[in-house]
Amino acid sequence: MSVRVRIAPSPTGNLHIGTARTAVFNYLFARHLDGKFILRIEDTDLERSRPEYTDNILNGLGWLGLNWDEGPFYQSQRMHLYQAAVQKLLDQGLAYRCYTTAEELDALREAQKARNEAPRYDNRHRNLTPEQIAAFESEGRSSVIRFQIDDDREIVWNDLVRGRMSWRGSDLGGDMVIARASADGIGQPLYNFVVVVDDIDMQITHVIRGEDHIANTAKQILLYEAMGAKTPEFAHTPLILNQEGRKLSKRDGVTSISDFQKMGFTAEGLVNYMTLLGWSAPDSTQEIFTLTEAAKEFSFERVNKAGAKFDWDKLDWINSQYIHNMPVDQLTDLLIPVWEEAGYSLTNGRERAWLEQLVSLIAASLTRLVDAVPMTRVFFTDGVELSEEGSQQLQQEGAKAVLQGIIATLENEPQLSADSAQAMIKQVVKEQKVKKGLVMRSLRAALTGDVHGPDLIQSWLLLNQIGLDKQRLNQVT
Ligand code: GLU
Repeated sequence: MSVRVRIAPSPTGNLHIGTARTAVFNYLFARHLDGKFILRIEDTDLERSRPEYTDNILNGLGWLGLNWDEGPFYQSQRMHLYQAAVQKLLDQGLAYRCYTTAEELDALREAQKARNEAPRYDNRHRNLTPEQIAAFESEGRSSVIRFQIDDDREIVWNDLVRGRMSWRGSDLGGDMVIARASADGIGQPLYNFVVVVDDIDMQITHVIRGEDHIANTAKQILLYEAMGAKTPEFAHTPLILNQEGRKLSKRDGVTSISDFQKMGFTAEGLVNYMTLLGWSAPDSTQEIFTLTEAAKEFSFERVNKAGAKFDWDKLDWINSQYIHNMPVDQLTDLLIPVWEEAGYSLTNGRERAWLEQLVSLIAASLTRLVDAVPMTRVFFTDGVELSEEGSQQLQQEGAKAVLQGIIATLENEPQLSADSAQAMIKQVVKEQKVKKGLVMRSLRAALTGDVHGPDLIQSWLLLNQIGLDKQRLNQVT
């Protein structure tokens, strides 16, 4: 049977980096084995699920290039399936109605706490007589549905990442609730149950998810057995950790894919970085690869058990590689919205051809797309702000005279070219008997306000094309 995997996010928040990384591993595994990658939206938690989170998840996965083959399937539209499956377990006697009230459960928990025992349901309603049931019903008690868990069972599976895993039935908290209470029959079915119904129905062969789901896996294996289905393979992927070695959380600042997008990471760079969060290629020196290239090499043998530390420097480096190697027109497409967002006006000569020249000028200096905002400010504003060094440069002996010399030559030069700009600089050096460095530094300070920046001649040409060079030279002389 061919491989079928799924990513099953809950739309209770934006697409989280941990979920996205799990999606990457699912995607790579499916593509490696020519299988199917399925998207299921687990929106059974009606209070916390929101359509805008679903949109964020779908957009985020799409943006990253994690294209799914089937779905999205919505659990909220599949309730009838879950209810039928609950009914079947009830009919088979593998599940039962439990009428224990919240107060009784609280008292049970308190008593266990007093005895220093772990909290668990004591299975008190597992074998109610018809008379007891009738009595509870006539009291008007509602019932949850519990699935029987055999305390003596040892649940064992061979995890594709973690090897042999075993769990004792007695450590699973007693018979588990699979559906909430409801006045009329079967209430809302719960996570561990619906996941299994869906994974069986969707013929999932490999469940690849974060290691925070390990305890759920033990319960779910019992449900597979009860429903007479073959258990899939499981692969529990390592958590993503912050610099302190704790699980990356909201407190670490950005955690959602849309945040990373806003911070100026490219989809290709971010997804490449995510493949390395817990996995390495057989040639571990290879760090730059597309999803297709990574898929060729991907296997769980090279997924680490240990948590994966999030490394901003590495993400930045990978991102810069993508930016530096991107064709100019593609990078321009990505930078236009960044400039627009910054409020820069892309008019008055700042049209596509000019923008592409600007992109060529700065591409090699960008790490994140948003770096283009401060880096190109002088190209989008009329005046320049002089930095301290810039202002000192303009006060150097001979600086003003040099700039006046440039202005004078510029008068006869309606259209500047790289050659004519170089010639002009040479001419001023010769006429005024000054060092070339003085001319270059003064020119840069006058044109950009600073003494550092991208290639001076190219910057000058760009400013010349939109008529800002003369204006700035006149301003400072
Ligand atoms: N909905 C679960 C989550 O967002 C995923 C469950 C699973 O992969 O089995 O964590």
